Amino acid sequence: MNLPIYMDGHATTRVDPRVIAAMVPFFGEYYGNAASRHHQFGWAARDAVVESRLAVARLIGATSREVVFTSGATESNNLALKGVMDASRARGNHIVTACTEHRAILDPCARLEQQGVTVSYLPVRGDGLLDVGTLAAALTPATVLVSVMSANNEIGVLQPIGDLARVAHSGGALFHTDAAQAVGQVKIDVSEDGIDLLSMTAHKLYGPKGIGALYVRRGLTLTPLVDGGGHESGLRSGTLNVPAIVGLGHAARLCMAEMSEEAERLTQLRNRLWHGLQQALPGVSVNGSMTSRLPHNLNVTFDGVDGEQLLIGLDDVAVSSGAACSSSRRSPSHVLTALGLREAAAQASIRFGLGRFNTDEDINYVVEKLRDLVARLRAPVPVFEIEDDAPELPPGWAAAPDRPNRGA
Ligand SMILES: *Cc1c(COP(=O)(O)O)cnc(C)c1O
Repeated sequence: MNLPIYMDGHATTRVDPRVIAAMVPFFGEYYGNAASRHHQFGWAARDAVVESRLAVARLIGATSREVVFTSGATESNNLALKGVMDASRARGNHIVTACTEHRAILDPCARLEQQGVTVSYLPVRGDGLLDVGTLAAALTPATVLVSVMSANNEIGVLQPIGDLARVAHSGGALFHTDAAQAVGQVKIDVSEDGIDLLSMTAHKLYGPKGIGALYVRRGLTLTPLVDGGGHESGLRSGTLNVPAIVGLGHAARLCMAEMSEEAERLTQLRNRLWHGLQQALPGVSVNGSMTSRLPHNLNVTFDGVDGEQLLIGLDDVAVSSGAACSSSRRSPSHVLTALGLREAAAQASIRFGLGRFNTDEDINYVVEKLRDLVARLRAPVPVFEIEDDAPELPPGWAAAPDRPNRGA
């Protein structure tokens, strides 16, 4: 077992060494511009882009011409939301989304609100899932777009995308999904699920950062964010980042080949982690549905401990807490509070994102480490009377790392 252990796979994933190997020649030998039509350098780059586009399309059940390469899911979300709303001004000005979405949806929505678009942020149930009836009730004749994430990046719950898309369509709206956490981890099929637009990113599926894609159903018009040389059917101008696109393509191929087996392995690891924690400690609870959930996600609240102390104590395990560390203020996660958790409980929550490179030994280590750590953080702090003639503390006591001063 190698320390530190990485269990923050919802933040990013390690680039698979096989993906790196596929990318390297496109930094060196094959440096052509994929848009150069009149020489072999350009053709080699273009062929590689064609192959990658096909691999990405296959992974989500699309066709190649429906895949637009972008810099990642943030850009894909911006292009989908702003592009559709701008191109559909004549049809309406209303977006429906969920309050548990990623900032890469909520912030573009806020920008659109400044520009006169109306946005409905729907509440979710206690298990994190959006009720189909809640969506149906929110649709109006002015609703142009419904955007609901496939898998949540904090609690891993899988929304009933197919059902939500059907309801959106019956109300005359398009359906977009931010599938950054789902693509390559669970089966997604844009035609089976009735998805019109889908955002994805390479670095959540063992590919490089800074490259992603937007699926745009054939025939759908949207206004580009970036104008220029007319690349990507005019939807995203700029010279293609060929090595990154090759990386995304190869990462997609590997997920396609290994996803079903890997999902089973990760489900077992994740369940072992959860059962291990339950056996080791009282006062632990899971956040979000355990049945409609990514195989590799676990989000746990540890009653009566401080989230920051937990993260500090987990010095050789990389995880995230239920607090968004924006600048100095630690605000509780908007996802956990949407489930009904109080601020303290949200702060005392940890997100585990298991992945391709985690092993049984990693799970054992983390369970034992948390058992000791949480027990210690929950132990009452001894109180001393401070007097002038008080005896000195025994040597080493003040510095003992296993007796943190937890304050009030
Ligand atoms: C990671 C993530 C994003 C942002 O993706 P980038 O490629 O880093 O821009 C957007 N949405 C969700 C749900 C994510 O998990």
